[in-house]
Order: sequence, then structure tokens, then C-alpha cells
Amino acid sequence: MSRAGRRANALHVNNGHALAGCGPLRVLLLCLCGALSLAVVLALYLSAEPSSSLQQHAAHLIRDRNAHKPNKYSVAQIKKFAAQVDGHRLWETHLRPLLNERVPGTAGSQTIRQHILSQLGSLSAGWTLEENSFVSSTPKGKVTFTNVLAVLDPSASRRLLLACHHDSKILPADPKNPKRVFVGASDSAIPCAMILELATALDTQLEALKRQRSAVTLQLVFFDGEEAFEEWTETDSLYGSRHLAELMARTPHPSGSTKTTLLQAVDLLVLLDLLGGPEPLIVNHFDNTARWFDRLIAAERRLHKQGLLTSHPSEQSYFRKDFYLGPVQDDHIPFLNRGVPVLHLIPTPFPVFWHTLDDAEERMHRPTVENLTRILAIFVAEYLGL
Ligand SMILES: [Zn+2]
Repeated sequence: MSRAGRRANALHVNNGHALAGCGPLRVLLLCLCGALSLAVVLALYLSAEPSSSLQQHAAHLIRDRNAHKPNKYSVAQIKKFAAQVDGHRLWETHLRPLLNERVPGTAGSQTIRQHILSQLGSLSAGWTLEENSFVSSTPKGKVTFTNVLAVLDPSASRRLLLACHHDSKILPADPKNPKRVFVGASDSAIPCAMILELATALDTQLEALKRQRSAVTLQLVFFDGEEAFEEWTETDSLYGSRHLAELMARTPHPSGSTKTTLLQAVDLLVLLDLLGGPEPLIVNHFDNTARWFDRLIAAERRLHKQGLLTSHPSEQSYFRKDFYLGPVQDDHIPFLNRGVPVLHLIPTPFPVFWHTLDDAEERMHRPTVENLTRILAIFVAEYLGL
């Protein structure tokens, strides 16, 4: 992501037409086209729902999203969900295979995507998995990007999205030691491993949630192409998230619907980035999701009080609402610009090792990663009512 910068502007599409010259044949053709267009417009008008009805359906989704209440767990339940998070599995099974170069369109990217798919595919919840590939122009020419998507119940009317980016930035290897390459441990191998561990830790309850056909389901998104190939610009960055937000905005949901889209079905996008170092300070970025940020603060406090967090000096060490350090460009932007509520879980200021070869396993802090995963396990479980 970009340290500086403001929100990207929404794209403006020019729909202007130029007028053609006139000849008798052309006039006849124009008349025929005109008649045809009129017929098509009339047919569409007669078959279409009144626009007030379309607005109503979208309004229902927003009303349900705004009215959504999380479960508030007892101490026993907090303990149960915290105990399901396995720090060793997170590190050894989920993280370690991700600690390689993961540049879009390379074999390294393909290998880690296979890892993500096989981990999720081995769970009993029965995730619907998809590789969402597309080609985009970059400063290095055309590149194939692939987002990895996992949905628990694709037919559920609403979704909670948990997201990270799986690609790594192109950085030169250490000139003194060419084997020392950029692995982006916090950027964003660890956030991806945390999401894999959350899916694994909550597997039994997620399977039950799917069986109950609950209204809100969970979707995991592993974006490709978050990083710029050269300098961060609106076109050289966020390749995967720009593609997916645009795709979801034109995908009917429920399937076949003429009323609402997949993007409108997103209750909340929770984006994890740059997590893994010690003492992260994660601030609240958006007023409209402040009540959800409060649930993170509450989970941190409650887990601390139960002695379930390690190397955690005070009950409010990570999540803070009392100050703000400015906007950050990241994969949430294409969703935010389309009205999706966002929780952006990223430390500010950025870690000192950001975009250097030091963003490696040695600089990570395992107790912090395990603590954050426990907090998120409570958050997700409460949100979905597991
Ligand atoms: Zn980065």
C-alpha cells in the first residue's frame, strides 16, 4: 500500500457519441436502427421493475446490515474460541510455505495460491473455492493476475469479507547475498496465514453455520497485485481489488437477481495488512464502522482480562480509537469508493521494515500474531453468531 496519498477518485466513463455523415442508404439504416432501439427500449421498459422497487431491495440489504447485531459471548465462550486458535499451526502449516517471492504471474505466485487452495480445500466446512484470473497492463507489460476467493455459502444473502493480499512486491535481492530475497512477511504473508488459521480454527462452527443456511456468510479474499510494479499510482497498484470490486458490482446476487449485486451483499470488508511485527498500533479509520471497531477493542480487553494474550502489557495495546494518523491507500479503496463499509486493520505508522528485505520472519513477533488472531477469532465468531 501507499504510505501517502488520498482516496482514489472514482473512474469516470465517457459515454459520448460522434455523429456520422448522411447519405440516403445511411439515412435508411439510421431509421431502421432507430426503430429497433425504440423497440428494445420499450421492451426493457415493459419488463423492468419500477426503479423504486430496485432501490427497495438494495435498501433492505442496507437496513439488515445496519441492524445486524453480534453475539456477545460469555467468558466460557471467549475461552473456547481463543483455545481453538493454534499458533504453531498458524506458523508452521499456514505461514511457512508463504514466505517466498510471490510476484504476480510467476511460478512463485502459483505455488502459494495452490497452498491457500489446498489448506481451505482440506477443511470440513466445504468452502466454494475460485481462482479469479484476469490480464492487466502494467509498467512491465501485460501480466496475468489471480485473486483467490473462498465462500462458505455462496447462496447466503449477505457476506462478511475477510481479506489480505497474497502477492509480494518486486524488490532486488541482497547484493551481498542473492539468496536473501523479499518475502514480505508482514506484507502480507502473515495476514494471509492469519486468515487461513481463522478458517481452520473455526472450521467446526463454520460448517454448522453453513448447514443452518444463515443469512450472513463468510467470504475470504486473497487479492493479487496489491503492490505497484514501479511507483504507486492509481493504475499501477491494487490490480486485484480494482478488478474484484468492479466484477462484484456487476454480478447479480442472489444468482439471477435483477435487483441486487454481490457488492451490495457485502456487510463489511475487514482488510488485514502489514501485521506481524511487535507492538502494532491499529487505529479506527472510518466512522461508519466504528461500532465494529469497538468489538475489536472489546475482544482485546476481554481476552487480556482472562490472561489469554501473551506479551500483551495493557488491555488496550493494539486497537485504539482515540487518535488518527491519516488515510492509507490499500485494497479497500475500490470497495470503499463503491460504498462498502470497511475495517482497515493496518498498523500506523507503518513498521520500520516496510518494503525492505528486513520484512522477514526474524523481525516478526509470534505472540503478537497469535494475539491478533485470537482477537479476530472472537470478532468473526461474534459477527457470524457461531
Ligand atoms: Zn507492500
